[in-house]
Amino acid sequence: MKIGIPRALLFYYYYPLWKTFFEEMGCQVVVSKQTTKELIDKGIKHSVPEICVPIKIFNGHVLDLLEQGVDYVYVPRMMEIRKRECFCPKFMGLPDMVKYSLPGAADKLLSSQIKSDSDDIAQPGNFLEIGAKLGKSDFLVREALKDAQRVWNRYRYIMKQGYTAAEALEILESKQSIEVRQHKGEIKIGLMGYVYDIYDEFVSMNIVDKLREMKVDVVTFEMYDERLLDAGLKHLRKKLFWTFSNKLLSAAYKFFEDDTVDGIIHVTAFGCGPDSLIGKVAELESIRCQKPFMTVRVDEHTGENHLLTRIEAFSDMLKRKHRAAKKEA
Ligand code: SF4
Repeated sequence: MKIGIPRALLFYYYYPLWKTFFEEMGCQVVVSKQTTKELIDKGIKHSVPEICVPIKIFNGHVLDLLEQGVDYVYVPRMMEIRKRECFCPKFMGLPDMVKYSLPGAADKLLSSQIKSDSDDIAQPGNFLEIGAKLGKSDFLVREALKDAQRVWNRYRYIMKQGYTAAEALEILESKQSIEVRQHKGEIKIGLMGYVYDIYDEFVSMNIVDKLREMKVDVVTFEMYDERLLDAGLKHLRKKLFWTFSNKLLSAAYKFFEDDTVDGIIHVTAFGCGPDSLIGKVAELESIRCQKPFMTVRVDEHTGENHLLTRIEAFSDMLKRKHRAAKKEA
């Protein structure tokens, strides 16, 4: 049985867990192709205009999997991974949006509600419904989840050594031993952005690689331990409702505190409601902390040259500042 996993949204955070789980259940996993303009256009055609860009992209990936002839497309209903917090409503309503807006999706949807009190979502309650739909025993689901959890923990461990999602996946699959990634750049930038904005090569236009080519080290929220990020929320008088937005804001506070971080780039996709709030909070805090901050807002029409010019100018300014500070010291 072929299970399609869209290469979008939390694919960049949970893919090793989902892949291992389905494979251990005896299924073949098919991943949608990399995001392209054509794929986005398909997603846009079947999305309500006011929805955020990442959801339009997700729709394009689901359509790609349907075209590939998979038996099911896995679309989890992500509810919560922290007490008294939830996912952005788009995640909670995702299976319904897919079901009612994409032709041919209703009969191919494989979904279950995901609720956990930590980022580790490999609990049987989250997957037994899936197992039943696929005709697998509860025992097999529980056993598959043990492996899925082990692989995902390893994936997260690799990321926390300073590796991006793509690098962590490569290391995981090659079974190489792992060392902390060495910083080789002249300066360091904190990238504040959701995994699906930063790691989708079309959306972010490979911003991590572009910065590294400019001799800039990059740090992102998922390179930090979850507990460290949770502790970072002490700066807020009141936490936000949305878990991943809290993670981003907490990472921003870490960047502000960390003297080795020279500046922050907030990568945000057009149409994101939570980002309009956390982006402003982070911008105001950056003024208070006197740390350079820049917002890069991407949509389906953003050109690569535009992005390149802006990040080049920002990193040049940081490098000059860094050199001047070094001379003074
Ligand atoms: S957090 Fe923003 S970008 Fe992500 S799904 Fe919600 S609205 Fe869209």
